[in-house]
Amino acid sequence: MGTRTLAIIKPDAMGANHHGKILARIVDAGFQVQAARIIKMSKSQAEGFYEIHRGQPFFEELTAFMSSAPCMPMVLEKENAVEQFRQLIGATDPADAAAGTIRRDFASSVGENAVHGSDSDENAEKEVAFFFAVGDILANL
Ligand code: ADP
Ligand code: MG
Repeated sequence: MGTRTLAIIKPDAMGANHHGKILARIVDAGFQVQAARIIKMSKSQAEGFYEIHRGQPFFEELTAFMSSAPCMPMVLEKENAVEQFRQLIGATDPADAAAGTIRRDFASSVGENAVHGSDSDENAEKEVAFFFAVGDILANL
């Protein structure tokens, strides 16, 4: 059994109809989708999810964007899931993201960058619990 990360296909990628292609890359890279939802976050929900970034100059823009349209949170499992998924998505700014990464190929800017991935195992567990109940996750059924 691997470890888990929380991924989100962000509103820009959903709006551009890129979610199918992004999901295919995730599955082809060997991640098992343990849970998935399609939701539209409220502004306060987005602020709660990104609480760690409150006070940053981009906080208002980020939380407005993330609550502007539907997104797709997912629980992904793989060996070393957090680091492996961060490698698959690439750097925050698509201009810095390596060739072949999801952000390089689908993100339009540092703010609207197609996908979220947890940055540590500890944060992954918190972020999974933000969107999913224990019984929503396949491994727990
Ligand atoms: P990552 O998503 O790669 O972990 P951060 O945790 O640093 O990046 O930032 C969270 C999100 O905030 C980013 O994915 C991006 O959507 C947004 N963001 C980060 N930096 C900026 C910036 N300088 N301008 C606008 N939005 C930003
Ligand atoms: Mg981050």
